[in-house]
Amino acid sequence: MKAARFHEHGGPGVLRYEDAPDPEPHPCRAIIRVRACALNHLDLWQRRGLERVRIPLPHVSGSDVAGEVVDGGGAFDPGTRVLLQPGLSCGRCEKCLAGCDNECLAYDVLGYMSDGGHAELVSVPTDNVVPIPDHIDFIAAAAFPLTFLTAWHMLLTRASLQAGDVVLVIAGGSGVGQAAIQIAKLHGARVFATSGPGKMEQARAIGAEDVFDHYAGDFSRRVRAATGNRGADIVIEHVGEATWERSVRSLARCGRLVTCGATTGPRGSVDLAHLFARQLSLLGSYMGRKSELLEAAALFFDGRLTPVVDEVLPLSEVRVAHGRLESGRQFGKIVLTP
Ligand SMILES: [Zn+2]
Repeated sequence: MKAARFHEHGGPGVLRYEDAPDPEPHPCRAIIRVRACALNHLDLWQRRGLERVRIPLPHVSGSDVAGEVVDGGGAFDPGTRVLLQPGLSCGRCEKCLAGCDNECLAYDVLGYMSDGGHAELVSVPTDNVVPIPDHIDFIAAAAFPLTFLTAWHMLLTRASLQAGDVVLVIAGGSGVGQAAIQIAKLHGARVFATSGPGKMEQARAIGAEDVFDHYAGDFSRRVRAATGNRGADIVIEHVGEATWERSVRSLARCGRLVTCGATTGPRGSVDLAHLFARQLSLLGSYMGRKSELLEAAALFFDGRLTPVVDEVLPLSEVRVAHGRLESGRQFGKIVLTP
């Protein structure tokens, strides 16, 4: 098969579109012909290399896959149209059996420590295969799983979103951002977002009441001004150093900040007096539960959540795709087609 692989860590130039061995059939695993695979920041981190993480080389990234079953491992008919749940867990431990599979000690993400979907074929446990209805195209299906799963877990499970909450989504044009705006809006929140100047209209179009330029000025003041000095009950963070302090300052009394990433750097400080006196909660979040993916997917399939696709490129253009995500110019997901 053809695959986008890297044999060493570095810039987009280390990516090679080349021949790679087909995945071998295996009990309890399915082989999927990839029709579309979206990019995530996780793919960039893997390519650049991470301290304390040894990614097997050569490596195929790609966590967000849609395609057709080639070998269903006894569980699915060949030709079934599917998307893949990107979280891999043992299925046997206490956390898995309690439905908290993203807390499994063996938790991994498709395309992280094992080969992913930036290829013509991918092998996954049959538990990760989710059939899709005929009216859902492969591009949209690939743009859906990781970011909607992540945003769902952040808003509903970690931050306990209630109707009427004020939600501030940092970088509303990112993959997680566009998912969070839509999920929050659908659950009855008042949604605000930050973005660069070129993306504000698009963020409004998917449900943000107002959008503040996070490159210019203090968006925490803008949120307060828009909410009668209350601030945001929930802040969705994933940018890190560049926005952290303003994000914390945006919180209302008893507000919850949830973070799932730090694309501009991992260091952030907190004024402890502000933290306790205002009764704030700072929460971490990583991926989400398979049950949450299925709940979100039902809303995707009936048209109430719609992944925003920025650009579709052939897999052979994987270097260009990484460059575009790295530049931060995109609104929504970049999708590759083998
Ligand atoms: Zn487990």
